[in-house]
Amino acid sequence: MTHIPQSIEERIEHVRSRILQACSRCGREPAGVSLVAVSKTVEPDRIWQALARGVTILGENYIREAREKIPLIDKSGVSWHYIGHLQTNKAKYAAALFDMVHSLDSLPLAQALNREAKKNGRVLQVLVQVNVSGELTKSGCEPGDAAGLIAAAANLQHLRVQGLMSMPPPADDPEQSRPFFTALRRLRDDIVRQLPGVGALPELSMGMSADFETAIEEGATLVRVGTLIFGERSYV
Ligand SMILES: *Cc1c(COP(=O)(O)O)cnc(C)c1O
Repeated sequence: MTHIPQSIEERIEHVRSRILQACSRCGREPAGVSLVAVSKTVEPDRIWQALARGVTILGENYIREAREKIPLIDKSGVSWHYIGHLQTNKAKYAAALFDMVHSLDSLPLAQALNREAKKNGRVLQVLVQVNVSGELTKSGCEPGDAAGLIAAAANLQHLRVQGLMSMPPPADDPEQSRPFFTALRRLRDDIVRQLPGVGALPELSMGMSADFETAIEEGATLVRVGTLIFGERSYV
């Protein structure tokens, strides 16, 4: 086991150095991998500590929590990413509070986000979440439906489809996640070939505390790391 340091400052450095090592192992530019610090359940004090250490992207899962916390943090230069499942009736909050939504999984949700982003006079970055692990998880659209959803979302003026996201089932060994990461990258490559009009879909959001290095080796551009930065979460 690698020794994991205790303070948030050291933990961020620890994650950053592991990102750098993973990049050098597979010959990728570190600039091509962004760290999303997953701050669900984390109180503002510890979020500020992370921001002071150069974290620029924060990931949240719960709309109710985000509505309280985002205005409190109120810091420029921070990008907020919504990474949890999003109900269509919460689209108005997501479109007002977040810069990117990683969990677009249906056309009604795309339409609702587009409508609400328009009301706010903004353009929302979105990733299509795909269920590449089949039976094992329920979140995300089916791989076979991703191209259709991307094509439809690409026509919506206030959304920018930037790529794909996936969340494989929890695994003891990061190697168990690798086939799902590979599948997501290949699906992206297929869709880009199939639908030249949608652009390069450059972003792949995959990998969490337990498997972000494997995800980087498979092409992740956004790694979503919570526990390794902020410690175990306590849900109250
Ligand atoms: C909580 C969460 C993460 C972070 O998980 P850790 O294992 O704490 O790094 C990443 N992605 C999603 C979608 C999450 O819900």
